[in-house]
Amino acid sequence: MNYSNNPYASLFKSQQEHQFYVGNSSYKQRIKKLKALKNALEKTYRHEIAEALHQDFKKPKIEVDLTEIYLVVKEIKHTIGKLKDWLKKHRVDTPLSLLGTSSYIKYEPKGVCLIISPWNYPVNLTFGPLVPAIAAGNTIIIKPSEMTPHTSAVMAKMVKALFDENEVALVEGDVQTSQELLKLPFNHIFFTGSPTVGKIVMKAASAHLTSVTLELGGKSPTIVHDSADIKSAVKNIVWGKFLNNGQTCIAPDYILIHESIKREFIEAFKDQVIQSYSEDPKTSEDYSRIVNIKHFERLVNAIEDAKAKHANLEFGGDIDANSNYISPTLISNLSEDSTLMNEEIFGPILPIKTFSKTDELIGYINSKEKPLALYIYAQNRKFINTVLKNTRAGSTCINSNALQYSNHNLPFGGSNNSGIGKSHGFFGFQEFSNARSVLKRHMLTPTYALFPPYTKLKEKIANATIKWF
Ligand code: NAD
Repeated sequence: MNYSNNPYASLFKSQQEHQFYVGNSSYKQRIKKLKALKNALEKTYRHEIAEALHQDFKKPKIEVDLTEIYLVVKEIKHTIGKLKDWLKKHRVDTPLSLLGTSSYIKYEPKGVCLIISPWNYPVNLTFGPLVPAIAAGNTIIIKPSEMTPHTSAVMAKMVKALFDENEVALVEGDVQTSQELLKLPFNHIFFTGSPTVGKIVMKAASAHLTSVTLELGGKSPTIVHDSADIKSAVKNIVWGKFLNNGQTCIAPDYILIHESIKREFIEAFKDQVIQSYSEDPKTSEDYSRIVNIKHFERLVNAIEDAKAKHANLEFGGDIDANSNYISPTLISNLSEDSTLMNEEIFGPILPIKTFSKTDELIGYINSKEKPLALYIYAQNRKFINTVLKNTRAGSTCINSNALQYSNHNLPFGGSNNSGIGKSHGFFGFQEFSNARSVLKRHMLTPTYALFPPYTKLKEKIANATIKWF
């Protein structure tokens, strides 16, 4: 196919031509690149990144440090510690029927990879996947989000300073840019974003049978059982929900609470919000903003839609269009056809819905798409196990939320509507690698006895092979 009209054809071609040079780099050379990225994040650009994120959506500095810088630095440290082992030959057992041979798995780079990232944790979700992509020996083109332009500009500067363009390049641009890039025959696409765009990416990838990792979103239910420690549950939920102003893929999307503790939960929730963000969260430096007016209006419309369908505004609901501000908001008595109960909220609004029986709760969860995360607040072990056994989710955190993301020994990702494939640590490295199987024959093998011409004796050997080996 001819891609000469594609604006990124020559960049793609230069990476394609360079892929074996990068792919054959030693683990030490790859670690050198990762260390350069780590240094840039921790030192050279740390301040500039924080400034840019503040300009983009008033993200508090400590949240930048913890959820953008630290998480990528942690991924780098984890990878540096393990990469030598990951790149070794992974020997496997030889069955008796293959006596005289030996086999191993070699993780080889996929080739030229595309990373498309979203705006909500722009640094983490751009450089996070870059770490395993480099570790696996790929050349990489990155397309960050157009919604956080200040941060994308800093990242573009960093990539230019750290890497040659034929190894790692960052292309700034909007949907159009993304769609042009998606026409090229990449060897792997790592996409983080919404399920709707995930489908567009997968469709484009199918034209070249390009493999995909889709880190998507959706509605993550948060169960609060009557055996839960309510105060501790509320403390964790308020943090997990309002971190990044609710614009987190694994934020608690809605609460499913046992009806007997609903009132107690709501009172504790109000107290905790005031404790975390003061009586007027608008003045709190620790409370960020909705990313832009489009998303602000989407959320305000969702609140209006809920109210029109007789929901109760339990707490919050204050807005200021000039600064894309919505205060921490808790809403109960929602109609099942309301926007808030059907679309991923991705903002500081928390619906609360009651249940009385475990069967009813599980039936409700399973009537929805498989979530990226499912949270359980409970002390009753039998209840926890029943929920774990009878539901499906990308990840689960018990008596906390969001922390599952920061253990790099765990795979991170969804299932079906919430994603395909996994990231973090070895799981991310595998995603950017092809597990190539290699078998070597050292001597005569039993298979010689089965080569044609097929005789009666060989038929007996074949029968014995089926039976015994
Ligand atoms: P999005 O899907 O709108 O955009 C993501 C990227 O895709 C951007 O770079 C954008 O330019 C590009 N894009 C948008 N429309 C496109 C199109 N029609 N064709 C090609 N490319 C297109 O997502 P977003 O609004 O940036 O981020 C929010 C979503 O991402 C939420 O659903 C959230 O749950 C999800 N998310 C998931 C994870 C995860 O790790 N699973 C992490 C963060 C966010």
